[in-house]
Formats: sequence, structure tokens, C-alpha cells
Amino acid sequence: MTSIKANLADVLERLSEAAIASGRSPTDIHLLAVSKTFPANDVRLAFEAGQKAFGENYVQEGVAKISDLSDIRNQIQWHFIGPLQSNKSKDVAENFDWVHSIDRLKIAQRLNDQRPDHLPPLNVCVQVNISGEASKSGVEPSELVDLCLAIAVMPKIRLRGLMSIPEPTDNETQQKADHKQLFHLFQELKNNPLLQSLSADLDTLSMGMSSDMAAAIAEGSTMVRIGTAIFGKRTYL
Ligand SMILES: *Cc1c(COP(=O)(O)O)cnc(C)c1O
Repeated sequence: MTSIKANLADVLERLSEAAIASGRSPTDIHLLAVSKTFPANDVRLAFEAGQKAFGENYVQEGVAKISDLSDIRNQIQWHFIGPLQSNKSKDVAENFDWVHSIDRLKIAQRLNDQRPDHLPPLNVCVQVNISGEASKSGVEPSELVDLCLAIAVMPKIRLRGLMSIPEPTDNETQQKADHKQLFHLFQELKNNPLLQSLSADLDTLSMGMSSDMAAAIAEGSTMVRIGTAIFGKRTYL
């Protein structure tokens, strides 16, 4: 049986190889371990093997795991990466360090209002619906700049970049084409003078999962979200 520790080492090695093959530094690409559906103890094993950033998709499950692992809370970054409903935003604002799935103004406003004062601003990425995206979640590219400008002035959330979930495909050419689109939107955003004047620190391009990690790194990803390749195949109840 392969272990979480061995899987993690393998993923990090492939991450480095993909970075070097694209002329990038492996240290410019962060690994987010996606622990959804896996127990808190698996997160602890990955943590003990050196992993510090974890991603969760479901609010209740994530909050329960964060609470189970309260003894190492200050050494872990918790990222919320799933669809977010308004009635769950308070739990996310109070418990997580990052949210990757901002797709509308109302959610951003609620997170800003609900982020406790004693915590640093919540780091956020806007999720973009690049063409062909299966889930159809995320903001349309045409609405991206306005949403980012609105977020950039909110004091308790900090705009860090963009995220996408392209339609799954084994075709690497298609994978790269999807990632390229998000990369171009990210470049446009970074070059936007209004956003620059609001000093948004746009440093995060959250793209790439177990099956398209190398393609995402080739196209400029700075954070890959890897579940299956670290924790194994998920079984949903
Ligand atoms: C589940 C999930 C992942 C991880 O997917 P794997 O294919 O298991 O690596 C990444 N990002 C999001 C948004 C997810 O929901």
C-alpha cells in the first residue's frame, strides 16, 4: 500500500520536474493538498510529512476537521475551494485562511463583513468560468474586472488572484488551452491600472489538479490543488 507520505513526495517531485521543464522555479509553485472526504487523521499524516496547506470543499466537513486539528491550527493554512452559499459564508469567514471560489459580489461582501477583526484579512481568489467549464460555476470573464475592483477596496478580504476548474479532459493540448485562457485573464488583471492603484497584490493563479498538474504548471499556475494523487481515490457517500 502506498502511503500519504510517499504520495506527497511523488507529487512534489513531479511538481519540480514540471516547473523545471517549463523554465520555472519549483519554489514559485505552491502545493495545496485537497483533503475533502478524507479524515482529519490523514491531514495530520500529511502535515507530519511536511505539508502545510490544505483545501476543503464542504463547509461543515472542513470546519469539523479544522476543529479536530486545533492543536496544529497555527501551523496550517486552510483553503476553502468549494461552491459557497450565502448561509455558510460566516463559518468560512471565521475558520479559513483562504477562499478560492469567489464568484459573485454578494459572497465577497458577506465574507468581508463576517471576517472577525482579530484575524488577518481573508485571502481570496475569484473563480472564473473559462469556456467549456463543466460546472458552469465562476464569474464570466466579461464581469471579472468589475468584481475584482469591488473586492480590492474591501478591508477584511485580500484579493490574491484567480482560480478555475476546467472541464476534465485527458487531452493535454486542451488542458493547456484552458489554462492559457486563465493565465491571460490574470495578466490583464495585473496590468489593469485601476487595480494597480488599489495596490492589489495579485500573486496567485490557482489552477491544476491531479490529472492536469503538469499542463497547469507549464501555463503559469502558482498553486496546484491536488487531492487524489496524495490521499487516494475518493468515495462519496
Ligand atoms: C476535488 C478538487 C480538487 C482536487 O482534485 P483531484 O483530481 O483529486 O486532485 C481540486 N480543486 C477543486 C476545486 C476540487 O473540488
